[in-house]
Amino acid sequence: MMRFFIFLTVFCVLAQGCPKIISRASWGASPSKCQARLPRALKYVIIHHTAGASCTTESACKAQARSIQNFHMKTNGWCDIGYNFLIGEDGQIYEGRGWQTVGAHAKNYNSNSIGISFMGTFTNRVPNSVAQQAAKNLINCAVAKNVINTDYTLKGHRDVSSTECPGTSFYNLIKNWPHFKA
Ligand SMILES: [Zn+2]
Repeated sequence: MMRFFIFLTVFCVLAQGCPKIISRASWGASPSKCQARLPRALKYVIIHHTAGASCTTESACKAQARSIQNFHMKTNGWCDIGYNFLIGEDGQIYEGRGWQTVGAHAKNYNSNSIGISFMGTFTNRVPNSVAQQAAKNLINCAVAKNVINTDYTLKGHRDVSSTECPGTSFYNLIKNWPHFKA
C-alpha cells in the first residue's frame, strides 16, 4: 500500500511537471486584496529581479518575501505583492499572487503574463544555478498546467518598460533561455 502511494505521488509530480512551491501561508503573507483573475494560456513570462537583498536560506527568503509584500502593499498601496512568484537562491519558489491572479509587475503585460522575480540584485552577477533551475521548473509547470501556452514568449522586464530590471548580467543570461524574445 505504501509503495502504491509513493508511486502515485511520484507519478502525479511527474505528470504535472510541477515543483514544490512555498505557499503564502508558509512564508507568512498578508491576505491578498486583489480581485482581477488571469485567463488561461497566457502569452508571456516576464522575468524580474527584486533589486534588493538576496537570500540563500528558506528563513531569509521568507523574510524577504514578507518585506517586499509590505513595501508593495503599504508603500505602493497595491492589493498584494506585485509578482506572481519569487525565486530564492535557496533554490526554492515562493508563491506571490500565484497562477490565477493578475500581477502588478510589468505595465501593459500584467493581464497576459506570469511575473517571476528573483530575489536579489543581478546587475553584476547572475542568480545561482539552483535559483535558475527552480525558475525553469516553474515555467515548465506553467506550460503543463496550461497557465501559459506552449509557444509562450519569455521577456525581461526591460523589454517592456523603461527599467534596468532584471539587471544587466541576468538579462544577458536570459537571452539564452528557451522562448526568449526581446
Ligand atoms: Zn522588474
